[in-house]
Amino acid sequence: MGSTGSIGKQALEVCDLLNLRVISLVAGSNVSLMEEQIRKYRPRVAALFNEKAANELRASVADLPCKVLGGMGGIIEAVTHQEADTVLTSVVGIAGLVPTLAAIEAGKNIALSNKETLVTAGSIVMRKAKEHGVQILPVDSEHSAIFQCIAGNRKQDIRKIILTASGGPFRGFTAQQMRNVTLEQALKHPNWSMGSKITIDSASLMNKGLEVIEAMWLFDMAPDDIEVVVHKESIIHSMVEYVDGSIMAQLGAADMRIPIQIALTWPERIKNSFRRVSLTEMGSLSFEKPDLEAFPCLMLAYHAARTGGTLPVAMNAANEVAVASFLSREIQFHQIPEIIQHVMGKHRVNIEPSLNDIIDTDLASRELATDIITSAGNEGKNPL
Ligand code: NDP
Repeated sequence: MGSTGSIGKQALEVCDLLNLRVISLVAGSNVSLMEEQIRKYRPRVAALFNEKAANELRASVADLPCKVLGGMGGIIEAVTHQEADTVLTSVVGIAGLVPTLAAIEAGKNIALSNKETLVTAGSIVMRKAKEHGVQILPVDSEHSAIFQCIAGNRKQDIRKIILTASGGPFRGFTAQQMRNVTLEQALKHPNWSMGSKITIDSASLMNKGLEVIEAMWLFDMAPDDIEVVVHKESIIHSMVEYVDGSIMAQLGAADMRIPIQIALTWPERIKNSFRRVSLTEMGSLSFEKPDLEAFPCLMLAYHAARTGGTLPVAMNAANEVAVASFLSREIQFHQIPEIIQHVMGKHRVNIEPSLNDIIDTDLASRELATDIITSAGNEGKNPL
Protein backbone atom coordinates (compact mmCIF):
# COMPACT_ATOMS: atom_id res chain seq x y z
CA MET A 1 0.00 0.00 0.00
CA GLY A 2 1.64 3.26 -1.15
CA SER A 3 3.78 1.51 -3.79
CA THR A 4 4.49 4.73 -5.72
CA GLY A 5 5.85 6.57 -2.67
CA SER A 6 9.27 6.73 -1.07
CA ILE A 7 8.82 3.66 1.18
CA GLY A 8 6.75 1.80 -1.42
CA LYS A 9 9.47 2.08 -4.08
CA GLN A 10 12.15 0.95 -1.62
CA ALA A 11 9.92 -1.94 -0.51
CA LEU A 12 9.69 -3.11 -4.13
CA GLU A 13 13.51 -3.00 -4.35
CA VAL A 14 13.59 -5.27 -1.28
CA CYS A 15 11.05 -7.59 -2.96
CA ASP A 16 13.42 -7.79 -5.96
CA LEU A 17 16.31 -8.65 -3.68
CA LEU A 18 14.42 -11.28 -1.69
CA ASN A 19 12.56 -12.59 -4.70
CA LEU A 20 9.20 -11.96 -3.00
CA ARG A 21 5.99 -12.28 -5.00
CA VAL A 22 3.92 -9.07 -5.19
CA ILE A 23 0.20 -9.91 -5.15
CA SER A 24 -1.33 -6.42 -4.98
CA LEU A 25 -0.25 -2.82 -5.46
CA VAL A 26 -2.08 0.22 -4.08
CA ALA A 27 -1.49 3.97 -4.54
CA GLY A 28 -3.35 7.27 -4.70
CA SER A 29 -3.38 8.58 -8.27
CA ASN A 30 0.01 8.07 -9.93
CA VAL A 31 -1.06 6.26 -13.13
CA SER A 32 2.27 6.24 -14.98
CA LEU A 33 4.40 4.83 -12.15
CA MET A 34 1.68 2.32 -11.24
CA GLU A 35 1.59 1.15 -14.86
CA GLU A 36 5.38 0.69 -14.80
CA GLN A 37 5.13 -1.27 -11.53
CA ILE A 38 2.32 -3.48 -12.89
CA ARG A 39 4.35 -4.28 -16.01
CA LYS A 40 7.37 -5.20 -13.88
CA TYR A 41 5.77 -7.03 -10.90
CA ARG A 42 2.68 -8.51 -12.60
CA PRO A 43 0.41 -8.30 -9.52
CA ARG A 44 -3.01 -9.96 -9.52
CA VAL A 45 -4.68 -6.69 -8.42
CA ALA A 46 -3.82 -2.98 -8.51
CA ALA A 47 -5.90 -0.24 -6.90
CA LEU A 48 -5.81 3.54 -7.03
CA PHE A 49 -7.80 5.61 -4.54
CA ASN A 50 -8.66 8.13 -7.24
CA GLU A 51 -11.41 6.52 -9.37
CA LYS A 52 -10.66 8.59 -12.48
CA ALA A 53 -6.99 7.62 -12.30
CA ALA A 54 -8.04 3.99 -11.81
CA ASN A 55 -10.11 4.13 -15.04
CA GLU A 56 -7.10 5.54 -16.91
CA LEU A 57 -4.86 2.84 -15.46
CA ARG A 58 -7.36 0.10 -16.41
CA ALA A 59 -7.22 1.23 -20.03
CA SER A 60 -3.43 1.47 -20.07
CA VAL A 61 -2.84 -2.08 -18.76
CA ALA A 62 -5.75 -3.74 -20.59
CA ASP A 63 -3.25 -6.10 -22.27
CA LEU A 64 -2.29 -7.63 -18.89
CA PRO A 65 -4.20 -10.05 -16.61
CA CYS A 66 -4.23 -7.54 -13.72
CA LYS A 67 -7.54 -6.55 -12.12
CA VAL A 68 -7.58 -2.74 -11.73
CA LEU A 69 -9.80 -1.29 -9.02
CA GLY A 70 -10.63 2.20 -7.75
CA GLY A 71 -11.66 3.91 -4.51
CA MET A 72 -11.58 2.64 -0.94
CA GLY A 73 -13.52 -0.52 -1.88
CA GLY A 74 -10.87 -1.35 -4.47
CA ILE A 75 -8.04 -0.76 -2.00
CA ILE A 76 -9.70 -3.05 0.54
CA GLU A 77 -10.14 -5.77 -2.08
CA ALA A 78 -6.45 -5.43 -3.01
CA VAL A 79 -5.09 -5.65 0.56
CA THR A 80 -7.30 -8.57 1.53
CA HIS A 81 -6.43 -10.72 -1.52
CA GLN A 82 -6.36 -14.35 -0.43
CA GLU A 83 -2.88 -15.03 -1.82
CA ALA A 84 -1.18 -12.27 0.21
CA ASP A 85 0.49 -13.06 3.57
CA THR A 86 1.76 -9.61 4.54
CA VAL A 87 0.57 -6.09 3.79
CA LEU A 88 3.18 -3.36 3.85
CA THR A 89 1.35 -0.15 4.75
CA SER A 90 3.13 2.93 3.43
CA VAL A 91 0.26 5.16 2.43
CA VAL A 92 0.70 8.63 3.92
CA GLY A 93 -1.71 9.94 6.58
CA ILE A 94 -4.91 8.59 8.15
CA ALA A 95 -5.88 7.28 4.66
CA GLY A 96 -4.08 4.07 5.68
CA LEU A 97 -6.29 3.33 8.68
CA VAL A 98 -9.40 1.67 7.19
CA PRO A 99 -7.51 -0.60 4.72
CA THR A 100 -5.05 -1.62 7.46
CA LEU A 101 -7.95 -2.68 9.68
CA ALA A 102 -9.45 -4.62 6.75
CA ALA A 103 -6.10 -6.39 6.16
CA ILE A 104 -5.87 -7.30 9.87
CA GLU A 105 -9.42 -8.67 9.82
CA ALA A 106 -8.44 -10.77 6.78
CA GLY A 107 -5.56 -12.24 8.85
CA LYS A 108 -2.67 -10.52 7.03
CA ASN A 109 0.50 -9.68 8.94
CA ILE A 110 1.21 -5.97 8.79
CA ALA A 111 4.61 -4.42 7.99
CA LEU A 112 3.69 -1.01 9.34
CA SER A 113 5.24 2.16 7.98
CA ASN A 114 2.09 4.33 8.06
CA LYS A 115 2.49 5.63 11.63
CA GLU A 116 -0.70 7.75 11.42
CA THR A 117 -2.66 4.46 11.64
CA LEU A 118 -1.45 3.86 15.20
CA VAL A 119 -1.48 7.54 16.16
CA THR A 120 -5.18 7.80 15.37
CA ALA A 121 -6.48 4.34 16.28
CA GLY A 122 -3.73 2.52 18.18
CA SER A 123 -6.06 0.87 20.67
CA ILE A 124 -8.40 -0.51 17.98
CA VAL A 125 -5.57 -1.64 15.69
CA MET A 126 -3.61 -3.41 18.45
CA ARG A 127 -6.75 -5.06 19.85
CA LYS A 128 -7.83 -6.31 16.41
CA ALA A 129 -4.32 -7.58 15.66
CA LYS A 130 -4.43 -9.61 18.87
CA GLU A 131 -7.93 -10.93 18.14
CA HIS A 132 -6.93 -12.05 14.63
CA GLY A 133 -3.50 -13.38 15.67
CA VAL A 134 -1.63 -11.13 13.24
CA GLN A 135 1.77 -9.56 13.79
CA ILE A 136 2.42 -5.84 13.49
CA LEU A 137 6.05 -5.54 12.37
CA PRO A 138 7.42 -2.00 12.48
CA VAL A 139 9.06 -0.48 9.39
CA ASP A 140 9.79 2.95 10.90
CA SER A 141 13.55 2.77 11.58
CA GLU A 142 13.21 3.81 15.25
CA HIS A 143 10.53 1.23 15.98
CA SER A 144 12.39 -1.45 14.06
CA ALA A 145 15.40 -0.65 16.29
CA ILE A 146 13.31 -0.93 19.46
CA PHE A 147 11.69 -4.13 18.20
CA GLN A 148 15.16 -5.64 17.68
CA CYS A 149 16.45 -4.35 21.06
CA ILE A 150 13.58 -5.92 23.00
CA ALA A 151 13.65 -9.28 21.18
CA GLY A 152 14.38 -12.01 23.73
CA ASN A 153 13.80 -9.71 26.74
CA ARG A 154 10.89 -9.50 29.17
CA LYS A 155 8.50 -6.52 29.04
CA GLN A 156 8.65 -6.01 32.82
CA ASP A 157 12.45 -5.53 32.63
CA ILE A 158 12.20 -2.49 30.36
CA ARG A 159 12.70 0.85 32.15
CA LYS A 160 12.31 3.17 29.19
CA ILE A 161 12.52 3.58 25.45
CA ILE A 162 14.97 6.14 24.06
CA LEU A 163 13.80 7.35 20.64
CA THR A 164 16.52 9.05 18.65
CA ALA A 165 15.79 12.05 16.41
CA SER A 166 18.11 13.53 13.79
CA GLY A 167 16.81 16.99 14.72
CA GLY A 168 16.05 17.71 11.03
CA PRO A 169 17.30 20.72 9.06
CA PHE A 170 16.57 23.19 11.88
CA ARG A 171 18.47 21.48 14.69
CA GLY A 172 19.94 24.19 16.94
CA PHE A 173 17.60 26.95 15.66
CA THR A 174 15.95 29.17 18.29
CA ALA A 175 12.19 29.80 18.41
CA GLN A 176 12.89 33.23 16.91
CA GLN A 177 14.89 31.80 14.01
CA MET A 178 12.11 29.27 13.34
CA ARG A 179 9.82 32.19 12.38
CA ASN A 180 11.79 32.84 9.18
CA VAL A 181 12.47 29.37 7.78
CA THR A 182 11.44 28.60 4.19
CA LEU A 183 9.79 25.64 2.45
CA GLU A 184 13.01 24.89 0.54
CA GLN A 185 14.98 24.70 3.81
CA ALA A 186 12.33 22.53 5.48
CA LEU A 187 12.37 20.07 2.56
CA LYS A 188 16.16 19.50 2.88
CA HIS A 189 16.50 16.72 5.43
CA PRO A 190 20.15 16.24 6.41
CA ASN A 191 20.16 12.40 6.59
CA TRP A 192 17.05 10.85 5.00
CA SER A 193 15.32 11.11 1.62
CA MET A 194 11.57 10.72 2.26
CA GLY A 195 8.12 11.80 1.04
CA SER A 196 7.29 15.51 1.49
CA LYS A 197 4.83 15.12 4.41
CA ILE A 198 7.19 13.18 6.68
CA THR A 199 10.08 15.49 5.67
CA ILE A 200 8.13 18.50 6.97
CA ASP A 201 7.07 16.51 10.06
CA SER A 202 10.76 15.77 10.67
CA ALA A 203 11.65 19.45 10.40
CA SER A 204 8.97 20.41 12.98
CA LEU A 205 9.69 17.34 15.21
CA MET A 206 6.01 16.37 14.83
CA ASN A 207 7.37 13.20 13.25
CA LYS A 208 9.07 12.38 16.55
CA GLY A 209 5.84 13.18 18.39
CA LEU A 210 3.90 10.81 16.12
CA GLU A 211 6.60 8.21 16.77
CA VAL A 212 6.22 8.57 20.55
CA ILE A 213 2.53 7.66 20.15
CA GLU A 214 3.38 4.88 17.69
CA ALA A 215 5.90 3.43 20.20
CA MET A 216 3.32 3.65 23.02
CA TRP A 217 0.99 1.33 21.10
CA LEU A 218 3.54 -0.98 19.55
CA PHE A 219 5.42 -1.63 22.79
CA ASP A 220 2.69 -0.97 25.37
CA MET A 221 4.59 1.86 27.09
CA ALA A 222 3.43 5.00 28.90
CA PRO A 223 4.36 8.25 27.11
CA ASP A 224 6.53 9.36 30.03
CA ASP A 225 8.59 6.18 29.68
CA ILE A 226 9.54 7.21 26.15
CA GLU A 227 12.38 9.75 25.98
CA VAL A 228 13.38 11.62 22.84
CA VAL A 229 17.09 12.30 22.34
CA VAL A 230 18.51 14.30 19.44
CA HIS A 231 21.26 12.30 17.73
CA LYS A 232 22.25 14.18 14.60
CA GLU A 233 24.23 11.36 12.96
CA SER A 234 21.16 9.02 12.61
CA ILE A 235 23.38 5.98 13.22
CA ILE A 236 21.74 4.76 16.43
CA HIS A 237 18.13 4.27 15.35
CA SER A 238 16.80 3.99 18.94
CA MET A 239 17.55 2.33 22.29
CA VAL A 240 15.94 0.47 25.16
CA GLU A 241 17.04 0.95 28.75
CA TYR A 242 16.50 -1.97 31.15
CA VAL A 243 15.92 -1.93 34.92
CA ASP A 244 19.51 -3.07 35.58
CA GLY A 245 20.91 0.02 33.83
CA SER A 246 21.85 -1.74 30.56
CA ILE A 247 21.01 0.15 27.40
CA MET A 248 20.58 -1.81 24.15
CA ALA A 249 20.96 0.12 20.89
CA GLN A 250 20.51 -0.78 17.23
CA LEU A 251 22.87 0.89 14.77
CA GLY A 252 23.06 0.96 10.98
CA ALA A 253 23.17 3.16 7.89
CA ALA A 254 20.30 5.60 7.27
CA ASP A 255 18.75 3.31 4.67
CA MET A 256 15.06 2.43 4.98
CA ARG A 257 15.57 -0.75 2.97
CA ILE A 258 17.14 -2.30 6.10
CA PRO A 259 14.06 -1.97 8.39
CA ILE A 260 11.77 -2.82 5.44
CA GLN A 261 13.73 -6.03 4.87
CA ILE A 262 13.66 -6.91 8.59
CA ALA A 263 9.87 -6.43 8.72
CA LEU A 264 9.45 -8.71 5.70
CA THR A 265 11.81 -11.48 6.81
CA TRP A 266 11.71 -11.43 10.65
CA PRO A 267 12.95 -13.48 12.49
CA GLU A 268 15.35 -14.32 9.67
CA ARG A 269 18.17 -11.98 8.67
CA ILE A 270 19.14 -12.14 5.02
CA LYS A 271 22.47 -11.02 3.59
CA ASN A 272 22.35 -7.93 1.38
CA SER A 273 24.76 -5.47 -0.18
CA PHE A 274 23.39 -2.25 1.36
CA ARG A 275 25.89 0.36 2.58
CA ARG A 276 27.60 -0.48 5.89
CA VAL A 277 28.43 1.97 8.68
CA SER A 278 32.09 2.41 9.58
CA LEU A 279 32.31 3.49 13.21
CA THR A 280 35.94 4.52 12.89
CA GLU A 281 35.11 6.77 9.94
CA MET A 282 32.23 8.16 11.97
CA GLY A 283 34.59 8.89 14.91
CA SER A 284 32.03 10.14 17.43
CA LEU A 285 28.30 10.13 18.07
CA SER A 286 26.48 13.01 19.76
CA PHE A 287 23.34 13.30 21.89
CA GLU A 288 21.35 16.31 23.07
CA LYS A 289 17.96 17.20 24.54
CA PRO A 290 15.29 18.47 22.13
CA ASP A 291 14.41 22.17 22.41
CA LEU A 292 10.66 22.14 23.13
CA GLU A 293 10.33 25.90 22.83
CA ALA A 294 11.71 25.97 19.29
CA PHE A 295 9.87 22.72 18.39
CA PRO A 296 6.45 22.92 20.11
CA CYS A 297 5.00 20.09 17.98
CA LEU A 298 6.84 17.55 20.12
CA MET A 299 5.29 19.02 23.27
CA LEU A 300 1.82 18.97 21.67
CA ALA A 301 2.26 15.30 20.77
CA TYR A 302 3.26 14.41 24.35
CA HIS A 303 0.17 16.23 25.56
CA ALA A 304 -2.01 14.29 23.08
CA ALA A 305 -0.31 11.02 24.07
CA ARG A 306 -0.88 11.60 27.80
CA THR A 307 -4.53 12.61 27.26
CA GLY A 308 -5.30 9.83 24.78
CA GLY A 309 -8.77 9.16 23.30
CA THR A 310 -9.53 11.35 20.29
CA LEU A 311 -6.96 14.09 21.05
CA PRO A 312 -4.19 12.44 18.97
CA VAL A 313 -6.74 12.15 16.11
CA ALA A 314 -7.49 15.89 16.25
CA MET A 315 -3.77 16.67 16.46
CA ASN A 316 -2.96 14.42 13.50
CA ALA A 317 -5.76 15.86 11.34
CA ALA A 318 -4.72 19.45 12.08
CA ASN A 319 -1.12 18.53 11.32
CA GLU A 320 -2.03 16.89 7.98
CA VAL A 321 -3.97 20.01 6.92
CA ALA A 322 -1.33 22.46 8.19
CA VAL A 323 1.54 20.57 6.50
CA ALA A 324 -0.37 20.42 3.19
CA SER A 325 -0.99 24.20 3.46
CA PHE A 326 2.67 24.84 4.22
CA LEU A 327 3.67 22.70 1.22
CA SER A 328 1.38 24.81 -0.99
CA ARG A 329 2.84 28.02 0.54
CA GLU A 330 -0.44 29.13 2.17
CA ILE A 331 1.06 29.38 5.66
CA GLN A 332 4.45 29.87 7.32
CA PHE A 333 6.33 27.03 9.00
CA HIS A 334 5.85 28.44 12.52
CA GLN A 335 2.08 28.50 11.96
CA ILE A 336 1.94 24.70 11.77
CA PRO A 337 2.11 24.21 15.59
CA GLU A 338 -0.13 27.26 16.12
CA ILE A 339 -2.90 25.73 14.00
CA ILE A 340 -2.51 22.32 15.65
CA GLN A 341 -2.64 23.85 19.14
CA HIS A 342 -5.76 25.80 18.23
CA VAL A 343 -7.57 22.71 16.91
CA MET A 344 -6.49 20.64 19.94
CA GLY A 345 -7.64 23.41 22.28
CA LYS A 346 -11.14 23.40 20.75
CA HIS A 347 -11.47 19.60 20.72
CA ARG A 348 -13.72 17.83 23.25
CA VAL A 349 -11.96 14.58 23.98
CA ASN A 350 -13.78 11.25 23.75
CA ILE A 351 -11.63 8.87 25.83
CA GLU A 352 -12.86 5.56 24.37
CA PRO A 353 -13.72 6.29 20.74
CA SER A 354 -15.14 3.82 18.22
CA LEU A 355 -13.80 3.78 14.64
CA ASN A 356 -16.71 6.05 13.62
CA ASP A 357 -15.85 8.52 16.40
CA ILE A 358 -12.26 8.57 15.14
CA ILE A 359 -13.36 9.21 11.55
CA ASP A 360 -15.78 11.95 12.70
CA THR A 361 -13.05 13.60 14.79
CA ASP A 362 -10.67 13.48 11.86
CA LEU A 363 -13.20 15.15 9.54
CA ALA A 364 -14.27 17.83 12.07
CA SER A 365 -10.66 18.68 12.96
CA ARG A 366 -9.67 18.93 9.29
CA GLU A 367 -12.61 21.25 8.70
CA LEU A 368 -11.64 23.46 11.63
CA ALA A 369 -7.98 23.63 10.56
CA THR A 370 -9.03 24.40 6.96
CA ASP A 371 -11.45 27.13 8.13
CA ILE A 372 -8.72 28.79 10.18
CA ILE A 373 -6.39 28.84 7.19
CA THR A 374 -8.90 29.89 4.51
CA SER A 375 -10.64 32.59 6.54
CA ALA A 376 -7.26 34.11 7.42
CA GLY A 377 -6.20 33.83 3.75
CA ASN A 378 -9.37 35.69 2.63
CA GLU A 379 -8.79 38.47 5.14
CA GLY A 380 -5.06 38.57 4.39
CA LYS A 381 -4.06 38.16 8.02
CA ASN A 382 -2.39 35.67 10.35
CA PRO A 383 -4.55 32.50 10.70
CA LEU A 384 -4.72 32.90 14.46
P1 NDP B 1 5.10 9.36 0.03
O1 NDP B 1 4.39 10.65 0.03
O2 NDP B 1 6.41 9.25 -0.64
O3 NDP B 1 4.15 8.21 -0.58
C1 NDP B 1 2.82 8.10 -0.19
C2 NDP B 1 2.15 6.95 -0.90
O4 NDP B 1 0.80 6.88 -0.48
C3 NDP B 1 2.12 7.10 -2.43
O5 NDP B 1 2.22 5.85 -3.03
C4 NDP B 1 0.73 7.69 -2.68
O6 NDP B 1 0.22 7.42 -3.96
C5 NDP B 1 -0.06 6.91 -1.63
N1 NDP B 1 -1.31 7.53 -1.24
C6 NDP B 1 -1.53 8.79 -0.83
N2 NDP B 1 -2.83 8.98 -0.52
C7 NDP B 1 -3.44 7.79 -0.75
C8 NDP B 1 -4.78 7.33 -0.61
N3 NDP B 1 -5.76 8.13 -0.19
N4 NDP B 1 -5.04 6.03 -0.91
C9 NDP B 1 -4.06 5.21 -1.35
N5 NDP B 1 -2.77 5.60 -1.50
C10 NDP B 1 -2.47 6.87 -1.20
O7 NDP B 1 5.21 8.93 1.58
P2 NDP B 1 6.38 8.12 2.30
O8 NDP B 1 6.68 6.87 1.55
O9 NDP B 1 7.48 9.04 2.65
O10 NDP B 1 5.66 7.77 3.69
C11 NDP B 1 4.62 6.82 3.78
C12 NDP B 1 4.34 6.51 5.22
O11 NDP B 1 5.50 5.91 5.80
C13 NDP B 1 4.04 7.75 6.09
O12 NDP B 1 3.10 7.42 7.05
C14 NDP B 1 5.39 8.07 6.74
O13 NDP B 1 5.24 8.71 7.98
C15 NDP B 1 5.95 6.67 6.94
N6 NDP B 1 7.40 6.60 6.97
C16 NDP B 1 8.14 7.03 5.90
C17 NDP B 1 9.53 6.98 5.94
C18 NDP B 1 10.35 7.39 4.74
O14 NDP B 1 11.59 7.21 4.80
N7 NDP B 1 9.79 7.89 3.70
C19 NDP B 1 10.25 6.50 7.14
C20 NDP B 1 9.37 6.03 8.17
C21 NDP B 1 8.01 6.10 8.10
P3 NDP B 1 0.42 8.50 -5.19
O15 NDP B 1 1.89 8.50 -5.50
O16 NDP B 1 -0.39 7.93 -6.28
O17 NDP B 1 -0.08 9.81 -4.67
